[in-house]
Amino acid sequence: MRDLSRCVVHPAVSHEGFASLSVPTYRASTIVFEDAQAYTNRKYRGPDGYTYGLHGTPTTRTLEAQLTALEQGERTVIVPSGQAGITIVFLSVLLPGDHVLIPDTAYPPCRGFCENYLKPRGIEYTVYDPLVGGGIAALIRDNTRLVWMESPGSTTMEFQDVPAIVAAAKARGVLTGCDNTWATPLLFKPLAHGVDFSSEALSKYVGGHSDLLMGSISVRDVALFRRLKDTMRMIGIGVSPDDCALALRGLETMGVRLGHVGRVATEFAQRLVDLPATERVLHPSLPTCPGHENWKRDFAGCSGVFSVVLRPEANPVIEEAFGVLKTFAIGASWGGTRSLVVPMAIKADRVATDWKDEGTILRISVGLEDPADLWADLEALFAALAAPVPAGR
Ligand SMILES: *Cc1c(COP(=O)(O)O)cnc(C)c1O
Repeated sequence: MRDLSRCVVHPAVSHEGFASLSVPTYRASTIVFEDAQAYTNRKYRGPDGYTYGLHGTPTTRTLEAQLTALEQGERTVIVPSGQAGITIVFLSVLLPGDHVLIPDTAYPPCRGFCENYLKPRGIEYTVYDPLVGGGIAALIRDNTRLVWMESPGSTTMEFQDVPAIVAAAKARGVLTGCDNTWATPLLFKPLAHGVDFSSEALSKYVGGHSDLLMGSISVRDVALFRRLKDTMRMIGIGVSPDDCALALRGLETMGVRLGHVGRVATEFAQRLVDLPATERVLHPSLPTCPGHENWKRDFAGCSGVFSVVLRPEANPVIEEAFGVLKTFAIGASWGGTRSLVVPMAIKADRVATDWKDEGTILRISVGLEDPADLWADLEALFAALAAPVPAGR
């Protein structure tokens, strides 16, 4: 072999005795075949086989298999974002003339996708009350193909009656999907409750360090897995094995991270109830949380994200009050090591339900800083929120 060839042909080295605890990062576009016949027959390797780097490498497959086991499913596909975890399900199930039901509290870009992408292509959608339960039956039409859920709802924390919705959908032969990002498969397993598609924004707790964008969709029915893989192949999307390696690393510590932030968030939620600026705390451990009974029945615990509805008198001082924060960062996409807080106004976004509160909602994500520093921040923030508005405002 001459030098120019040596530059591109890697020598085989021994793997003997190399036993590492980490998953190797296998990067690839080209996959080579042992002979021409194997290449010709590559499509018979099926969606689990290796044919092209875009469709997965052993690194991707390891992450898929680990999530499949946690979700108690049969297969998982990895997609480039949590939002893609929603849209790839919708694109795999829905054809022109079909209808999908989404909750009023869905991650907002989900509704944006229905309104601005699906609707112009002849796919209808209806927004429903997340607490409808078995009443979803009355909203299912002959052309309904999918009932989407997100439990708890984004920002307002409604815990849905997933088993009742699944039963009503199944009775009509309609598929169901659930965005399970808040709970992760450690706290809730949608597939075990009969849901067909469990979607996770791995960008949040699985990644866990605010440096990764990724999503997953897990299923029990291998036929649905094939439909998801077909959609991804036709659109031409996949996920980098380097990113999958980060997700695999994040997953290893997710249990302790989630346990810690769940305990601290529960403690904070209970203390915040009594502060003067608080109207209501939306945390599943409190009976005032919408769907609290569903959470108690179906979930194994709490993650670190919850919301506080402020008294409307705090509205004029919010922006100034945020200036007191020393440890909390202000930003979206929770689930990392840093604690986050953002003010949210959702009233105008609700169409199937009537949100009565005029006060701003604080969305809080507890991270891994010392809880004493975090509580000092929250106390200062809530004191500033409760301060009387200076005269002349
Ligand atoms: C963040 C989030 C998503 C979207 O995840 P990205 O990776 O940011 O696209 C979807 N659903 C829920 C519930 C989320 O919180």
